[in-house]
Parts: sequence; structure tokens; C-alpha cells
Amino acid sequence: MIKLNEEHYALDFENCPNDFGYIKIEDVNDDNLNNLRFAIKVEFKNDLESNVKIIKNLIYIINNEKTNDFYTLYDNKKVKFLIKNYTNSLLVALKASLIKEEKTRVEYLYDYLCDYIDNLWNEKNPCQFDEHSSCIAQRMKVAPYDIHGCCYSFNYTKNPFTFTTESEVCKYLEKGKGCTQKNLSCKIFVCKYLRENRIFNIDFDKYVIPKAFFSENQILIMKYNHFHTRDELIDKLIKNEKTPNILYDLHGDYRISKPVWNNGWYLKRIVI
Ligand code: SF4
Ligand code: SF4
Repeated sequence: MIKLNEEHYALDFENCPNDFGYIKIEDVNDDNLNNLRFAIKVEFKNDLESNVKIIKNLIYIINNEKTNDFYTLYDNKKVKFLIKNYTNSLLVALKASLIKEEKTRVEYLYDYLCDYIDNLWNEKNPCQFDEHSSCIAQRMKVAPYDIHGCCYSFNYTKNPFTFTTESEVCKYLEKGKGCTQKNLSCKIFVCKYLRENRIFNIDFDKYVIPKAFFSENQILIMKYNHFHTRDELIDKLIKNEKTPNILYDLHGDYRISKPVWNNGWYLKRIVI
């Protein structure tokens, strides 16, 4: 039995007794939402788009005001979902789908993504910092500074020839501690040297959680707000700005520090 929150559980289909009552997610529709009696069976697939669709459907079902408090009582526990082919990220998605309060849900998902990506960096250690705080790209002389990797912050300007202010060591980098913030944009960023030499990469567009829970505008916020605090990113995410994505992207509205010169789309692609 997998605990989803203080009240609800999920059960692996492998451990499901014969007399366990459930309804398949494919059979749930607007007409029977107010008549759900049992746990929903969710069989995840091996492709991203299908799983995104399943999670979005679950979010719709859970948040619909017509929906009953559905579960199957098993071993004295309220089992909400019967699940098959799940991964850890999909379990996190199930847990998040039950969190009603938006800020709590966004924080939970944001922290999960940060920890998940941290683990990828830690497992591979692609930057190979030495005792002088110099990373592999710096030792190969393909990065602009000699130490501190890519932790140099800058701002965008309206000057079309320079685009950015001079960079300086990020204020969140502390001696002996490293980065003191959980900045998702920084965690997603992989420098050209690592990417082009196929040493390491992060394909954030293939992650199920951003696609299932966040809008395209919010995904831009997650990707392109380096050198800011975790709380600044969370606050920006929950503002839920409804500007059409193409304008949001073009105007650079996804940035916490907006460039004075209004061309975020272009800047984003040449600087990062
Ligand atoms: S991502 Fe590249 S530039 Fe940044 S610390 Fe790692 S190796 Fe260095
Ligand atoms: S916020 Fe980003 S740039 Fe600043 S120290 Fe942390 S990882 Fe480095």
C-alpha cells in the first residue's frame, strides 16, 4: 500500500485482491462523476503524452465539484487509486493531484523537480569541480571565468549590442556551502561544453510533471529565471498569468527581472 496523504492510499495492481472494487479511468465520464463508489484504476503507459493525458484527466476528475469522495476500503484504509506501470515521478504526480491548495501543490512539485534534477547531477558529477572551484569547462578554457563554474549572474539591458550587464559571481553562491538557493532554472541549465560533448544533458521537455501540472507560461518561468530565490520563482509561478503564450514568450514576461528592452524571446535564445 502506498501512502498518498494522511488519508488516502494507492494500491499496486499486483497486490490487488480479486474482490477489490474499482472503476477504470477510461470509464469515468461527466455522467458518472457524482456516482463514483470505488477506487480508480490507472494504468500508466510507456509514453510521455499518454501519461500526461492520464494525469490531466485525474486532476479534472478530482477537482470537479460533481465528483464523489471515491475510494475502496481495503485493510481499513481508503484506497483512491489502483495503479499499474508507475514510476516515482508518477507517484509524485498522484500525490500532487490530491493537494487542493495551489501554493502547497506548486511547492511540492517544484521541490520534487529540484531534488530529482540534483540527483541526476550528483549521480554523474559531470562538472568535476576541483579543489580550486574550477569546473571541467573552465579547465578546458571553454567557459568565460576560471572558477565557480557558471554561477555568474547578469541582468538583461535595453542595449541591443550588449544585451546583458557585466556578470558577477552570483550572490547566492557561498564559500564552503555552494549554492544556497533551490533555483530550478539553474538546475536545468547545462552548458554548451557538456551538451555538445554528450557528457550530460537535461531534457526538461520530456518530464511528465511540468507538462501535466503547469501551463506553457509556467514552464517558461521554470526554465528561464536563473539567479533568483526559490520563493521568487514560486511566487511567479502561482501568479498564473494568462497572457497568451506567444506574447508571454516574446515579451519576456516569464522573467522575474524583466529586461527593459522588450525582447525576451530573442535574448533567451542567444544568451542561454
Ligand atoms: S554546467 Fe558547464 S560551465 Fe557550468 S559548472 Fe558545469 S561544466 Fe562548468
Ligand atoms: S542561484 Fe544559480 S547561479 Fe546562483 S549560486 Fe545558485 S546555482 Fe549558482
